[in-house]
Amino acid sequence: MNGKADAVVVGSGPNGLAAALRLSAAGLRVQVVERAERPGGGMRTEELTRPGYAHDVCSTVQPMAAAAPFFREFDLPSRGVRLVQPEVCFAHPLDGGRAAVSRQSLEETADGLGSDGAAYRQLFGPLVEHGTDVVDFFLTSQLRRPPTRSVPEVLKFALTGLPNVRWLAHRYFDTEEGQALLAGAAAHGMLDLARPLTASLGMMLGMLAHHVGWPLIEGGSQKLADAMVTALEEQGGEVVTGHEVTDLREFDGVPAVLLDTTPRAFVSMAGDRVHEGYRRWVARYKHGPGVFKVDWVLSDPVPWTNSDVRRSGTIHLAGTLEETLAGEAAPAAGRLTDKPYVLAVQPTVPDPSRAPDGGHIFWAYVHVPHGSDVDMTEAIENQVERFAPGFRDTVVERVTKNAVQMEQWNPNHVGGDISNGEASFTQMLARPVPRWNTYKTPIRGTYLASAATPPGPAVHGQCGDNAARVALREVFGIRHTPRLRSARGRSAAVSFRP
Ligand SMILES: Cc1cc2nc3c(=O)[nH]c(=O)nc-3n(C[C@H](O)[C@H](O)[C@H](O)COP(=O)(O)OP(=O)(O)OC[C@H]3O[C@@H](n4cnc5c(N)ncnc54)[C@H](O)[C@@H]3O)c2cc1C
Repeated sequence: MNGKADAVVVGSGPNGLAAALRLSAAGLRVQVVERAERPGGGMRTEELTRPGYAHDVCSTVQPMAAAAPFFREFDLPSRGVRLVQPEVCFAHPLDGGRAAVSRQSLEETADGLGSDGAAYRQLFGPLVEHGTDVVDFFLTSQLRRPPTRSVPEVLKFALTGLPNVRWLAHRYFDTEEGQALLAGAAAHGMLDLARPLTASLGMMLGMLAHHVGWPLIEGGSQKLADAMVTALEEQGGEVVTGHEVTDLREFDGVPAVLLDTTPRAFVSMAGDRVHEGYRRWVARYKHGPGVFKVDWVLSDPVPWTNSDVRRSGTIHLAGTLEETLAGEAAPAAGRLTDKPYVLAVQPTVPDPSRAPDGGHIFWAYVHVPHGSDVDMTEAIENQVERFAPGFRDTVVERVTKNAVQMEQWNPNHVGGDISNGEASFTQMLARPVPRWNTYKTPIRGTYLASAATPPGPAVHGQCGDNAARVALREVFGIRHTPRLRSARGRSAAVSFRP
């Protein structure tokens, strides 16, 4: 970039790039600085195993991107980002060849749950009907939350989601299928499922299946990152890769600096410019369990006993509600278990373009104690074999990443924690420090914009967008948020309505 930027964004994950696009929409000169050789953060896709096999290193399943206000405005189809929907959104196999299955159709999902069908309709029906309002309410910053037209549904979500998922599962469902389906979705949150607020993630992810599906991005999540970078460059912005920022003095004279990093990294980069009180709060900010991930190349599709599971994008492997709770209690308590909750995705089922003709890829991770370097491949493959006997015979190649390697790959994954800070009740109330505007830091013009700020983890871009709006107002005096430019350079209309 010739001359000084008006704003610098450190980190090019979905939040960093969302922040950059919003700032750039205001006509500012924006530079993004990324330590990795490629932009994208949690949207990176790599040939981890063999040429032609496109493995998502992190995120693959994108209901949040499909539903979030930022990406609706960004308008994925006009940017050439195609969402592909698996026939089954997510499945939770049980012993004896049974499986609980969530499909895009709420009716079909409820019908599949037999005697729990009516309760399923009662829990999810009103939320799905008001899906856009519920999503917008919970993903928009408290600083600018619009009045909602769906007060009863938002209240229902907030109150029903407050307890733990064990309570919610027993309150609504009698069958192993209904209970496990809800718990498997809630377990994405990487918390002990006996803790408050775990019900809310089960409800949000369960509802999104019927609202926008659980789509994947054709060709890999990198396509979304690339589309965001292209849009930024078209507007005169710039992404510099291979540069790790260690000291904020590098940007002295730049009016606004936004950080798609951990709060700890900010404090370290800021040095003595941050007062002791803020430092203490950041030191108290807790990073939770890590993940251990395996990416496979397979000779054949996974031989699931249950035919619905074969058609699913995402699979939750743990067994019953009680087994799921036990699988998640262990890592949260700093223990390993040989019967973990396994979160698996079979990308080539809805998107064969990710492997050469007839090829198959598959990935899975488990939650492990914070900072664990233990290899969990055997425990993961045992859980897959339990519901897909003969799976090991299909394995052609595998690569793994333990929790320590997760952090080496991306410093935002402290101790392997891919949420950039535990998504617990207290840390979701005020994230990462207890103040009203948590994007603001003690340094004037410097803002946190990563998943360590509200509304927290996942690919939705909302943290970055929220932080950018604060910066536009405070640093540049721009009160009316500029609309994102459309793919053709004009202000984008919200044309992608799920
Ligand atoms: C294995 C795995 C699977 C996941 N699956 C899903 C999924 O299916 N769906 C979903 O919605 N979410 C998923 N997630 C979570 C999702 O990827 C994250 O919540 C999201 O990417 C967070 O976005 P972010 O922009 O805050 O940070 P990140 O995506 O982590 O990006 C931060 C970027 O900042 C860079 N950076 C950090 N420090 C510096 C520095 N000092 N200097 C320069 N650059 C720096 C990093 O290299 C990185 O590129 C998954 C995550 C992982 C790890």
